[in-house]
Amino acid sequence: MRKIPLTPRPPLPQGERGSKKDNLLAPLPLRERGWGEGYKQALLALLLLIHGAAIADTFGYPLEPQQIAPDTYVLEGKTEDFSRKNGGYIVNTGYIITADGVVVIDSGPSKRFGEQQRTLIEKATGKPVIRLYLTHHHPDHFLGNQAYGEIPRYALPASKQAMQLEGEAFTANMYRMTGDWMRGTSITLPDKEAKAGTETVGGHQLETIALSGHTPGDLALFDHTTGILFAGDLVFNNRAATTPHANIAAWLTALEKLQSLPLKMIVPGHGKVAQDKAPIEQTRDYLQWLSATLKQGAANGLDMNEVMQTPIPERFKAVALAHSELQRSVSHLYPALETDSLKPAKQAE
Ligand SMILES: [Zn+2]
Repeated sequence: MRKIPLTPRPPLPQGERGSKKDNLLAPLPLRERGWGEGYKQALLALLLLIHGAAIADTFGYPLEPQQIAPDTYVLEGKTEDFSRKNGGYIVNTGYIITADGVVVIDSGPSKRFGEQQRTLIEKATGKPVIRLYLTHHHPDHFLGNQAYGEIPRYALPASKQAMQLEGEAFTANMYRMTGDWMRGTSITLPDKEAKAGTETVGGHQLETIALSGHTPGDLALFDHTTGILFAGDLVFNNRAATTPHANIAAWLTALEKLQSLPLKMIVPGHGKVAQDKAPIEQTRDYLQWLSATLKQGAANGLDMNEVMQTPIPERFKAVALAHSELQRSVSHLYPALETDSLKPAKQAE
């Protein structure tokens, strides 16, 4: 039988490093041993993988409150697609500190996000959250609701209905795209109906504006006290608009309404906060270009792949994800347009 030493071996004296086997943490003398580039690359990949796993293990979202007005803060997400690296933090959420407590706008992409967001807000403000507004039914805006289980959660009826209908599929899809960041996430629906109108909450005059176009139920929240508009995804800033549930005509009408507000600052659903109405104008311009491109393509009998290859105009070069969102928009919106453009021909047969 092999004898197992009971006492640990004494540490090696300085300068004498023992055999290579004993020094697992010492840098490997790759050259000396004549190991090739392939091995080095594999080792590097492994180290990067370990490093990545170490970051992901903590599942901490990099939440940094940005003050944009008295009592008003934004947590700004990246203008990226969902990934295992960003955990779905590609969305802007915000909060308003009132005399009665904190009003939160959107709960983010996951249970973990909602929990971290609420903890941060209550710690930073020393006040409880008293209500949550949900701008629309897209997963990055409401899957953090679980963290607000006992808090009144407001949404437009159309938004709640869509969450009920599509929430499960959204959650599954988010798991697929962001992985373990989503652990434990399930659907918590809004429990209050947001009604269009103005209400004073803890000294802030808040107007709920009921719109549609990005989705069937888009809620914008305008704080008349500070002039800040939380526009949800009706407004994107230097990030291409997403259109899986879009009605572009209704969306353009909604933008006209937002344009008419006496606002000082806009918090878009995605992209940087702006001190002017430029993001409204950019979103309008982009949607009009998109709509014209699709209609033109259908009129010319182009197939989907051809329309997807449409070059992005120079003025949208700074718009993140313009090319990939065009491809998605074609797949969402083009089939209906193609059908429309075929109708007269079919009727003529
Ligand atoms: Zn959205």
